[in-house]
Amino acid sequence: MEFPGFLGNAPVKEALSRAFSAGRFPHALLFCGEKGSGRRTLAALTAMALVCRNKERAPCGECPSCIRARAGSHPDIRTIEGSGASGALSVDAVRAMLEDAYRMPEEARCSVYIVQLGGNTLEAAQNKLLKLIEEPPDSAVFIMICPSPGAVLPTIRSRAQIFTLRPPGIQEAADWLCKNKGAEPEAALELAGRFGGNLGRMQEALEGAGASQAFITAARVASAIRGPGHGLLKAAAPMQGDRALFRETLERLGLIFRDACVRQAGGESLLSGAPEAVEALRSFSTGRLMALSELTSEALRMLERNANAGLLLTFYCAGLQRRGIPHTLGENKWQK
Ligand SMILES: [Zn+2]
Repeated sequence: MEFPGFLGNAPVKEALSRAFSAGRFPHALLFCGEKGSGRRTLAALTAMALVCRNKERAPCGECPSCIRARAGSHPDIRTIEGSGASGALSVDAVRAMLEDAYRMPEEARCSVYIVQLGGNTLEAAQNKLLKLIEEPPDSAVFIMICPSPGAVLPTIRSRAQIFTLRPPGIQEAADWLCKNKGAEPEAALELAGRFGGNLGRMQEALEGAGASQAFITAARVASAIRGPGHGLLKAAAPMQGDRALFRETLERLGLIFRDACVRQAGGESLLSGAPEAVEALRSFSTGRLMALSELTSEALRMLERNANAGLLLTFYCAGLQRRGIPHTLGENKWQK
């Protein structure tokens, strides 16, 4: 199996290739990684290889199957996406897939389902999915995509082969951005360093989305945590009344706290793209940063569960001001 244009991740490529050549390809695969780490690209390449008609080299990229797979119109490749702001998979979506999965493939040897599991997919939907991968139809392969193995039920993890994607090296990522997106070498290297080689986030920043409001708001909120309370409330104000922005800002704050933890541990792999905000948290202990990160994850979960956003923001800011410790907010207080 080949991986044209897919950088790094040699162990993952080797394992997939070996299973592919041996004709023992797993029925259920879990591709884990940060947003932007190439999970969807790898899933698309894998699906293409599975339907490719070329026996010597798959995916060949040239046969009618590969061409249709690339165009997104191959009848035996289905992508099941989550819905709503969080991208969580719904029970209905899994049910529809269950009904579909037992039909015979139309032209390939197998049907491939690319299942995008958001980080917050409900247990009910996951249990339904579990039924499918516990007794998979002979001719179906399920490629599940999620942020980390911890985002899925242990019962699903134990039945799937797990592959964790890592960003390529900084120089390799920078070269890729120059070659494929026309970036200037110096700017590409700067972006690669800022985003730890995460190609998705580098592209986003290059295309201007990195300067989006959520990006700016998250950096301001993180930088204001140490200051007086009114500064924090002012920084967080844009999140008020805009659920989508609130959610996106929380996600970016999660990355900033994660980066600050990595920095404390002496690591250099940064994902938030906000080095100034990470720097502003330098005096925080790892324990505090982890508490801030947990507070942010909890707020994100509550937001997905339809908590009252105004109230949630007030509690969240109060939690940030206490620097995450202790936060003793009961779930009921966050609910409508
Ligand atoms: Zn082909």
